[in-house]
Amino acid sequence: MGLLVVGSVAFDSVETPFGKAKDVLGGSATYFSTAASYFTDVRLVAVVGRDFPEKHINFLKKKKIDVRGLQKAKGKTFRWKGKYDFDLNQAQTLDTQLNVFASFNPKLPEAYKDTGYVFLANIDPVLQLEVLRQVKRPKLVACDTMNFWIERKLKELKKTLKFVDILTINEAEARELSKESNLVKAARRIMSYGPEIIIIKRGEYGALMFSDSSVFSAPAYPIESVFDPTGAGDSFAGGFMGYLSSVDNITDANIRQAIIVGSVMASFDVEDFSLNRFKKLTTVEIENRYDEFKQLTYFDDL
Ligand code: AMP
Repeated sequence: MGLLVVGSVAFDSVETPFGKAKDVLGGSATYFSTAASYFTDVRLVAVVGRDFPEKHINFLKKKKIDVRGLQKAKGKTFRWKGKYDFDLNQAQTLDTQLNVFASFNPKLPEAYKDTGYVFLANIDPVLQLEVLRQVKRPKLVACDTMNFWIERKLKELKKTLKFVDILTINEAEARELSKESNLVKAARRIMSYGPEIIIIKRGEYGALMFSDSSVFSAPAYPIESVFDPTGAGDSFAGGFMGYLSSVDNITDANIRQAIIVGSVMASFDVEDFSLNRFKKLTTVEIENRYDEFKQLTYFDDL
């Protein structure tokens, strides 16, 4: 069916209690498209600066990601600097430099316009809507965002959410967006902005899905070697949307399964800095961890 994503492609500088990485490959669309590439054809829309090395573009091409929508503009690539303390669930943003994203005017290649599945990864909600306007009747639109945009562009974000079917959002950001501390109330409030399904990402505690007719709770895979949680949310979304686009049948059961696939992809991401874990990740490893996930939540009814 194909999957289109717009979001950030970035240089990240990250500090965790276990080490540091400076100016490494990152960005919401980068993590998303890499994770999704294991399941479906991915079309990427983003912008980088002239300082962006060819080796990173080659990495995306090696994952068979369509980069015809990745523009190279005059100026510097988006940069994000963040820090995690021992509670790895909460990133602290130290610096955000929009650079080429400040004047980005996304123009979809003709071949992208009839993509069935669309993911608006974390980026300016104005750009998210601009991309959505250029797609012809998508089957499913999902979206992510963060405090940076909730605090600066709330009105624009709410406008974008009117056209979104599924919102994936961090626990703290769900509370901030809805102004509700209780997560059930938060999900209901966000649904009133447009999305029919809300997936609340809770870091090492897993994910909660709310729809009108059901609630689903998935644990996170218990990982002993968590090095860098950057990109976990986007890798989750990549696995989730990649799987849904590959089955191309949106049912409650398939959404639940997609949440587990997303959790599997996030669990690999956190095992190394940047996208390093995906450089060597195989389909067999993904299948094995999916089976382990089943065991994790299996219990007998006596
Ligand atoms: P997450 O999956 O939530 O850990 O997302 C991490 C990625 O989001 C990093 O690689 C950053 O480059 C990117 N990011 C951070 N802040 C922003 C922002 N304001 N807009 C778009 N992308 C961002």
